[in-house]
Amino acid sequence: MAEPLALVEGKLLLTCGACGQKNAVPPAGLRSGPVCGRCHADLAPPDRPLELDDAGLERLLAESALPVLVDFWGPQCGPCRMLAPILESFARKARGRALIAKVDTSRHTRAAVRLGVSSIPCLILFQRGQELRRQLGLVPERVLEGMLACALPA
Ligand SMILES: [Zn+2]
Repeated sequence: MAEPLALVEGKLLLTCGACGQKNAVPPAGLRSGPVCGRCHADLAPPDRPLELDDAGLERLLAESALPVLVDFWGPQCGPCRMLAPILESFARKARGRALIAKVDTSRHTRAAVRLGVSSIPCLILFQRGQELRRQLGLVPERVLEGMLACALPA
């Protein structure tokens, strides 16, 4: 089981597949194809959801060059738990095209309140900080792909 991804001081920690070096990459740098600071191999973008708090989410939305799909969820919510593996699978397929993030609303409420999230699971797609699409409830992966399709340039 891979460790969860988080933002550390606003940067993503990406482990180099070639030399194992951990590299701190700002979200804005993900689209430009980051390379390892030690061996200069290409760093693969994240392939699993980032687990964020309110401050981390705000920072990611403000800085990410890629679209960000955010899952507002809670551990007591059955449909949220069923959505988790769907989101993980989608994060692998959307690698390099979007960032997938999760906010646990039982621990972090500020962003959810600000965005008017009143029931979970609630998926919101952002691009350049702006909300593009919102989807409530448990949905299959093709719905996530459909949401993302509207964010990408034609
Ligand atoms: Zn390396």
